[in-house]
Amino acid sequence: MEQLIEGHKRFLAEIFPARRSQFHLLSDSQAPEFLFITCSDSRIVPDLILGTGPGDLFISRNAGNVVPVTGQDVDGVTATIEYAVEVLKVKHAILCGHSDCGAMKAAIDRAALEKLPKASRWLRHVEAAFSHRQPLNPADGAHAELASLIRGNVIAQMLNLRAQPAVAHAVVAGQLAVHGWYYDILTGRIERYDEHTRRFLPLLG
Ligand SMILES: [Zn+2]
Repeated sequence: MEQLIEGHKRFLAEIFPARRSQFHLLSDSQAPEFLFITCSDSRIVPDLILGTGPGDLFISRNAGNVVPVTGQDVDGVTATIEYAVEVLKVKHAILCGHSDCGAMKAAIDRAALEKLPKASRWLRHVEAAFSHRQPLNPADGAHAELASLIRGNVIAQMLNLRAQPAVAHAVVAGQLAVHGWYYDILTGRIERYDEHTRRFLPLLG
């Protein structure tokens, strides 16, 4: 805990005073343009890799960056999506997977989930990833197999995201764009799924 207490002290002493007016503006409303759905993994720090800050990203995180299939019981992810689209009127919804994803490793090796009944049930949501697996990319080296499945999961969850009623409606109305990203921890680079070529391409052309 010491690390967190010290970090908060530094925030109050250095960062907050310098940005006081921004926090004042944000104190009673938010108008983020982006809904960002990603994995709970500690190595994904959206504000760090995207240069964003308070008020920019409306974030939903869970193991495996899952969007549960619509029509099932309500859950935290789909409720968050509905609020982001219907109330905040975000203009972009980004589904972001990442390299070395533990959730996807567990989906491959289900024995790892034996003592984790909740995680095991949750990760049924990623099973569609297997049918969207991407071609192996030699740049991924020894992890190419896993990376191709992780990219497949981005596509599978993007489809679930598009199928959410609020999302489908906003997309048809031209008010919302849906994006699928793959973030590589080793290189720091992001790939985007191109729906025309059905391939992952570098975000920075
Ligand atoms: Zn992950």
